[in-house]
Amino acid sequence: MKRFIMGGASYLMWMGLAGYLRYMGLVTISWETLLRCCGLLLLYNTLLFGVFRSGLNRRFKDPSLTLFQMLVGILWAMVIIYHSGEIRGGMLLLYLVVFVYGLFRLKLRQFLFLALFAIANYCGVLFLVYRQNPAGFNGRLELMNLVILVVVLPWFSLVGGYITSLREKVARAMVTIERLAIHDDLTQVFNRRQMFEILEREKALGDRGVHPFSICIIDLDHFKQVNDTYGHDRGDIVLRTVAQTIQKNLRDIDHIARYGGEEFILILTNSGVSEAMQCAERVRGLTENLIFETFPDSFRVTISVGVTKYTPAEDIRNSINRADKALYRAKALGRNRVEYEPAVVVGSWAVGPG
Ligand code: GH3
Ligand code: MG
Ligand code: MG
Repeated sequence: MKRFIMGGASYLMWMGLAGYLRYMGLVTISWETLLRCCGLLLLYNTLLFGVFRSGLNRRFKDPSLTLFQMLVGILWAMVIIYHSGEIRGGMLLLYLVVFVYGLFRLKLRQFLFLALFAIANYCGVLFLVYRQNPAGFNGRLELMNLVILVVVLPWFSLVGGYITSLREKVARAMVTIERLAIHDDLTQVFNRRQMFEILEREKALGDRGVHPFSICIIDLDHFKQVNDTYGHDRGDIVLRTVAQTIQKNLRDIDHIARYGGEEFILILTNSGVSEAMQCAERVRGLTENLIFETFPDSFRVTISVGVTKYTPAEDIRNSINRADKALYRAKALGRNRVEYEPAVVVGSWAVGPG
């Protein structure tokens, strides 16, 4: 829509300029033809507005229809340039107005195609002007105008294509930055900040009664020993493998995040107690059977899991504390197990401990 409005504003400028030049007697176009052109332009822009409003434009790779709009713009520029008589040279600026429209959007190839199109158009205009009045045709001047166009438009295309490529680089960098901002570097699962974002979102849904959710805290058992025996770097491999394996085995709507050193949190959307326990039990089983590259075949790692269900309206830290309490119990009861901590229910209102 923004681009459409930009285009519309350019056409208003075009009409104003044409009207002014006609008023000053500098262009040969008749008032009647000019008004007809303005009517056509209004019709064209109304149609275009309809296309954008109805969403038809989304069927195209570039929903702004930049290239198409520029082609049409060049044709309109041609109309006024054709009628410009001796001020034709100055009117060449209209091409730049059209070309600016493609900055940040068109690739070099598309810019060059438009430049060729505009130059061919301009040659056509010169031919028509010559045919109309061969005696009044200032060949030398018109040739100079053409040379300027042939130099400037391809040059603009080069610079424009370069600017577009820069924009694409920035867009790619943004994707990387966004990814880095929400993922943990080592394990590639969500980081703590993103974990709280998701928890707040789930809390909002849970509080409105849309759906319940559960939380599991996972802690690797005796992980210090792994580091001490195999070194920190290989400890990292274990952490990454466990996190990735769990992530691959979750539903698309569930999330895993790194909570701290060797602790992870699962956020299980639309899950009650039994679903959460099943899920926790499944990842526990998966982990104890994992085989790790560069480790002896007999090497195994296990996890302990604390599970709880979010109680509507409670502070999210309450739920985490409850899951932590369950985790503590799982450790105390011998590790490699899943424990559940229910919320304390006061009357019909449930709150977490504390
Ligand atoms: P427990 O079963 O009680 O959880 O024993 P544990 O040894 O896993 O527990 P503890 O909290 O004492 O040790 C956690 C260890 O995790 C200590 C720390 O060196 C290790 N750790 C934390 N973050 C990382 C990491 O990013 N990479 C590696 N390799 N180790 C880490
Ligand atoms: Mg541990
Ligand atoms: Mg720990």
